[in-house]
Amino acid sequence: SALANQIAAGEVVERPASVLKELVENALDAGAQRIEIESAAGGIGLIQVRDDGCGIHPEDLNLALRSHATSKIHQQEQLLNITTLGFRGEALASIGAVSHLSLSSRVVNAEYGWCLRENTTAQPVAHPVGTTVEVRDLFYNTPARRRFLRGEKTEFMHLRATLERLALSHFEVSFRVSYNRRPLFTLPSCLRSPDQLKRIAKICGQAFTEHSLYFKRETAGLRLWGWLGHPEFCRSQTDLQYVYVNQRMVRDRLLTHATRQAYGNRLPQGRHPAYLLYLELPPSQVDVNAHPAKNEVRFREARQVHGFIVRTLTEILEQADS
Ligand code: ADP
Ligand code: MG
Repeated sequence: SALANQIAAGEVVERPASVLKELVENALDAGAQRIEIESAAGGIGLIQVRDDGCGIHPEDLNLALRSHATSKIHQQEQLLNITTLGFRGEALASIGAVSHLSLSSRVVNAEYGWCLRENTTAQPVAHPVGTTVEVRDLFYNTPARRRFLRGEKTEFMHLRATLERLALSHFEVSFRVSYNRRPLFTLPSCLRSPDQLKRIAKICGQAFTEHSLYFKRETAGLRLWGWLGHPEFCRSQTDLQYVYVNQRMVRDRLLTHATRQAYGNRLPQGRHPAYLLYLELPPSQVDVNAHPAKNEVRFREARQVHGFIVRTLTEILEQADS
């Protein structure tokens, strides 16, 4: 029901940045190579995400907006082996319940696309292969939630931070972003680590790239790679810490703890390290179904993962010492 969707929206959609995250994750799940984002007025006025992914079949457009309708998992057992960023089928329904949403999509080999707006039937539209989701007037029908939002500037800062986190999760995808009708940034796709450094420099600053070490280590189904900031390049905040598990941006206590432990007393009191960490392991080893926003994970072999990270990072930092 509409009310149930509005209540669910409270868990998924906290602010414009959460809308953006869900839409970009859908684009990534659709195999997009290029993602174009347009936003205005702190994202409260407009968030539009266009991708060149697989598109949605016209018969499935309605379904995509319905709650608990996902095309990504079909059986309960698959919940233990999630390979996509989304899996609950909740985001579009929740966002649609608290905004004016339109969904346009065209699949490969179709001559044109179809556009679905709330309370109407789908109409044919000219559209390249892929999907565009447009979200306008967020929380227009839930004034209490709208009042809870901060000013446009603050919401924009959250949008930007979320985009940066997402852009660092998929180097192979290009991102073009504009805000209030002006270009904000363009990030070309980059596959080799020197090119990836350019994207990192744009997002984390040139100083980080000059004071960090690239590394890659692998043992028994666990792979860890990324860029570790030199201890001297420490920060007063934790703002330069990016952690990804199987290309999903996460906030994880275990990973933060393991990293802290590796830096140990190389850091002055009260200072924080800067790093980009990418952990890859079999999906069956991670439970991502632990939180509505899907940014917390649980590891089946938590101690093993913790130990691997501490050992790997300690080794890298020791090499840097000598
Ligand atoms: P979930 O991502 O958990 O499956 P969503 O509510 O985010 O749920 O999306 C619902 C469904 O709509 C997806 O399962 C997918 O089939 C379809 N969908 C949404 N966005 C896109 C997109 N950008 N490209 C292709 N399909 C999409
Ligand atoms: Mg989704």
